[in-house]
Order: sequence, then structure tokens, then C-alpha cells
Amino acid sequence: MDALDRSTIWPYDEQGEPRAFFYSRYGSPTVAAAEAALGALDGGTALLYPSGSAATSALVLSILGPGDTIALAEGCYFGTSVTFQTLARWGVRYVEFDQTGPPPDGVQLVWVEAPSNPFLTMPDLEAAAAHPAPLVVDSTVATPVHLRPLEHGADFALHSATKYLGGHDDTLLGAVVCRDPAAAEALHTFRTRTGIVAAADPAWQLLRGLKTLELRVRRQGETAAAIAERLAAHPKVVTVRYPGLSGLLSFDVADGDAARRVETSTRLVVNATSLGGVTSVMESRHRWEGDRVPAGLLRLSVGLEDPDALWADLAQALTHA
Ligand code: PLP
Repeated sequence: MDALDRSTIWPYDEQGEPRAFFYSRYGSPTVAAAEAALGALDGGTALLYPSGSAATSALVLSILGPGDTIALAEGCYFGTSVTFQTLARWGVRYVEFDQTGPPPDGVQLVWVEAPSNPFLTMPDLEAAAAHPAPLVVDSTVATPVHLRPLEHGADFALHSATKYLGGHDDTLLGAVVCRDPAAAEALHTFRTRTGIVAAADPAWQLLRGLKTLELRVRRQGETAAAIAERLAAHPKVVTVRYPGLSGLLSFDVADGDAARRVETSTRLVVNATSLGGVTSVMESRHRWEGDRVPAGLLRLSVGLEDPDALWADLAQALTHA
């Protein structure tokens, strides 16, 4: 079993010199073990952060400066655009583009999401990697089980490990996986100096989550595919978005009132936010994103429940649409 080491300090060696670990803001054994495990999965050097949003902020602040512009995939995770809006005070701006085509010229960073949450579009990774600016792929939803962005020319893969990697809705954690070890070193230095560092407990939970990642994600994907098919054939469902990766899908019912009735009528599926856990959750995204999404859009993260029981629950909820 992986050891959980909660220390913040470790003794110097016999000559009074620091060993590999001496103060946890610089590095700690449990965090390092989780980084090694995730790095191996994604084929790069991983760094953990206290949340996915912390990973986003730390990455942008460490590689960009005032006057720089990010090309951000439109329709990707709402919170990423909110983070970038917050960073506007420091002179970093962003423009949105359709990630199914090439990013615009004249930007210093390209940011795509595979697949986007909640629109579930896939980026054109070849076009994004051909752009001269560094490329970040948020592969929270795809996970390394389905996509290793660094093999497609990405400079950085980003994860909200709060989702599939942790997998049990009890861990807030983020990660950046770097293709270039020198870039990882620079991020590490920035992380130490700014203190945006993950703690040992969530890192240990990540280690545990990674042991079942592939099993969970494959099963969630199988169930989601079956649910997507049944939703598509349902008379109350207008649109289904499911690219076939992992357990995340979204679908539309007639309007906002219908979506609210459906989300509050489930018994097995929990009406809550987030995604990627073993428990199925569903919510109307309009409450968070406003007119950026259709009022009738419901985002469903499929868990590990029995597929027929899940469908029975969704079918009874849809009678209220
Ligand atoms: N990226 C994606 C695709 C997400 O869905 C989320 C959270 O929902 C994040 C990043 C942010 O992660 P966290 O909530 O761990 O800060």
C-alpha cells in the first residue's frame, strides 16, 4: 500500500544537508508518488495542485504575463472562462474560438478541452498542435484512459483530478502534466514560490483512485453509451450529446422548467454538480452558465450503478418533462 505521510518537515542528513524532502511546500513523498503515477499514465511530468482551477491559475500565471492572450475553446468548462476573467486584472486576456477548427493567430497560449464540458465537442488536436503557441489540453473528461494529449503534440495536459481521477467525490485536486521536463521544473519553482501546493491527503486519495481508474472509466463509458442511445430515442428528449468518451453526456429537454422538473424527480441519480464520480449526478447547467447553454440542457455524469436501474430512474424522471 502507498504510505500517507502528512509531515510538513523531514530531517536533514548527517551533514546537515536537506534530503530529497525537507519542507512540504517544496515537495512531499505522498504528493511525489501520486505525481509519478499520474505522470506515467499521461506520459509526462505531473504536478499536483489543490484543485483543477488552481492548476489552471498556476499554469497561466507562470507562463504568461501582462499583454498576453489565450485562445480558449468556446463552450468548454464555464469555470475556466471565469478564472481567465479574474486574471484580466493582471493583463491576461482571452478570446474564444471553435475548437473543432484551428485556433486564431496572434495568441500566446491555446487552451482546448477534450471533450468540452458540457457541449462534448472534441478539439482538432492536429490543428491546435500546429499553432506556434503552447497548447494546453484539459483532458479531465477524457482521462488518460481515452486520451494522452502529450502524444498529440500538447505541451500540457490539465486535469481536475476532483473528477474521474479521484473518482469518489471526496477529493479536491488538480494536475498539470508537462511534455518538457524543463517546463515542469519551471512550474515546480513557481509552485514552491507561490505556495499553490497540493496536500498529502488528496494526493493519497488520488493514488487510490488511479488504481481503479481504467475499470471505472470503461464501465461508466459502456453505461453512458447505452443511456445515450435510450435518451436519443425518448420522445421528451430534443438533443443528446455523447462523443463516446467516458461517462459524461448532456441532453436537452423542451425548456428550463422541464429541465428543473426532470432533475428534481430522480431518485437514484443525485441532483448535484460535478462529474466523474462513482455516483451518477445530473443537473441543469443553466443555473450556473445562464444563456451560454440551452435552458433545457441537463448534464449527466454516469456512475457505476446498474445500467437498467439508472435508465428506469431517468425514464420515470422524464415523465415529468
Ligand atoms: N476542468 C474541467 C473540464 C472541469 O469540469 C472542472 C470542474 O468542474 C475544472 C477544470 C475545475 O476543476 P476544480 O473544480 O477541481 O477546480
